[in-house]
Amino acid sequence: MELAIIGAGAAAVGLLDALDPAAVTSVTVFDPAPVPWRGRPYQDDLDSVLVNAPPEIMSIRFGDRDHYARWLRGHASPGVYADERLGRPIPPRAVYGRYLEDTAEAALTRFGRAEVIRTAVTGVSLDERLTVRTADGRLHRADQAVLCVGGGTPLDHYGLAGAPGFVPDPYPLERTLADIPPGRDVAVIGGGLTAVDIVASLAARGHTGRISLVSRSGTLPYVWQRPVETGIRHLTPEHLRSLDGPVTLGRLTGLIRTELAERGESWDDLAAWITATASRRPADSLREQLAMVDDPGLGRRILQEAAHTAGAVAWRLLPVPDREPLRTRHFRTITGLVSPMVPGNAAVLLDLFDAGTLESLSGIEKIEAGNGFRVAHAAGERTADVVINAVNPPPHAIPRAAERLVSSLLGQGAAHHPDGGLVTDPGTGRIVVGGRPDPRLHVVGDLAGGGPFLVSGIPGVAAQAHRTSRSITREAAPAGGGGVRRR
Ligand SMILES: Cc1cc2nc3c(=O)[nH]c(=O)nc-3n(C[C@H](O)[C@H](O)[C@H](O)COP(=O)(O)OP(=O)(O)OC[C@H]3O[C@@H](n4cnc5c(N)ncnc54)[C@H](O)[C@@H]3O)c2cc1C
Repeated sequence: MELAIIGAGAAAVGLLDALDPAAVTSVTVFDPAPVPWRGRPYQDDLDSVLVNAPPEIMSIRFGDRDHYARWLRGHASPGVYADERLGRPIPPRAVYGRYLEDTAEAALTRFGRAEVIRTAVTGVSLDERLTVRTADGRLHRADQAVLCVGGGTPLDHYGLAGAPGFVPDPYPLERTLADIPPGRDVAVIGGGLTAVDIVASLAARGHTGRISLVSRSGTLPYVWQRPVETGIRHLTPEHLRSLDGPVTLGRLTGLIRTELAERGESWDDLAAWITATASRRPADSLREQLAMVDDPGLGRRILQEAAHTAGAVAWRLLPVPDREPLRTRHFRTITGLVSPMVPGNAAVLLDLFDAGTLESLSGIEKIEAGNGFRVAHAAGERTADVVINAVNPPPHAIPRAAERLVSSLLGQGAAHHPDGGLVTDPGTGRIVVGGRPDPRLHVVGDLAGGGPFLVSGIPGVAAQAHRTSRSITREAAPAGGGGVRRR
């Protein structure tokens, strides 16, 4: 069976690693990126651009939590990348990119024939066999295709494109920060992990000017605690699937309450702490959470683990009206809890807050360009020489590079999901075309609509890759092979 994989980021690596070479004999991977397998997040960049999670939740191989940790042990001396507070290695994201590269290269040798073509795909025709069209005008035949095209890029909410001093997309920071003189006033739009990357990298470059984080809420992501075994029993995908009747928000909260109570924790206490954290000054919150990295309490750890492992299942079981408050009112809190910052970065930010170099401004109203920038926020106005955009794209956004490809599928009966992305079958990742899942077309990654509103991290992408590889194998017919080629 001949498989076309469109996009060569983490999702494609997870898929290649999961595929059964007895079922898939020929693989062609398409991606215009100069260096494949790294996608947007894991390209070469400053050493201050770190992975955002401990090794046990960064394995690209579903079902083998130690896969990445083993690779890291084999490629770095113990302690080199240690985040001392977390007690885990937190290497630069480019190092993780090398892990993805190694995993992909090893996986490719397992197929009879494998080829990486450095061109974007502009369309797929759903003929009797699929025809994949590339930007150079060539046509490539395939039996099945998987779209692994990733998510979007930051949105220009304030219409600043083209203004001198505006950085629309911060990555790679090695390039975008290079021309910012150290004494300039910098405003960073957003308060998520991208904003944290930017501040940590400005600090690593010895920036002395004022840095203002400007966002609606003025809050920051939470801080990781040392990973420990949580022994989750109720908030597992299996348990959630086994429940009879609707799984309302009330019922889900009941499960959280029970899960925590069985570990000697109180959901009411944790919820009160979370609410209080939202109104605390960011520096006070960071200080408190840095002191809690080693805290034995399991509450937050249980919520995080459950969100990563069972979040997608819970989301699909929730009645639509019950999803709304999570997606709107609680979006920021849930995102910050589920995707916290690493303690090393939290310590850098806290030092800057304490030194008075960093501030967090909430209630952002508008940003105007013209002889520098003027930022209107809840407490007044702030000027800046440079504005760096760290506004994350909405989940399930269609990446610009995939717009033509997606349009070609929409023209043949695929459909936009109302929450973003394409309508897919949740069990298999197959794209729904003309009302039915097409067994020849899959999505791995955020283009799959209907999932939770959080951008997929590595565990989510690895789980999707595993599910899709099984679906492909079911559909595949055995065939002959050739040799590995690159161009
Ligand atoms: C800055 C950042 C940091 C992150 N850090 C972490 C982290 O530390 N831990 C974690 O768990 N998760 C992290 N994530 C989440 C991240 O989304 C996933 O980890 C993962 O990278 C998603 O992989 P992907 O392959 O779906 O997308 P991507 O990695 O974005 O790859 C998509 C690829 O598709 C290609 N492509 C797009 N359109 C076409 C086309 N038409 N034809 C051919 N190719 C195309 C692109 O060139 C790209 O190479 C981070 C995300 C971002 C944005």
